[in-house]
Amino acid sequence: MPLSKHEIDELIRLVSLTRDAEITCEQCLALVAEFAEHVLAGQTVPQGLEAVEHHLSVCGECREEYEALQATLQHMDDA
Ligand SMILES: [Zn+2]
Repeated sequence: MPLSKHEIDELIRLVSLTRDAEITCEQCLALVAEFAEHVLAGQTVPQGLEAVEHHLSVCGECREEYEALQATLQHMDDA
């Protein structure tokens, strides 16, 4: 179920408040598309999304999800 832009913004805000806290897989997957778009666009990753980056470095399952998503987004760019 995709989140609305508002829900994503709210989640990023919440995550950025708990910067040193681990996020859950659920939160990571909710934000990973946002994270991937920033990375692919070569933009600075917002503070709240650093938790996603950290989660991806420790969670293989979410990293697989991220890599699949990144491949999809890159493919879309090529088209
Ligand atoms: Zn995870």
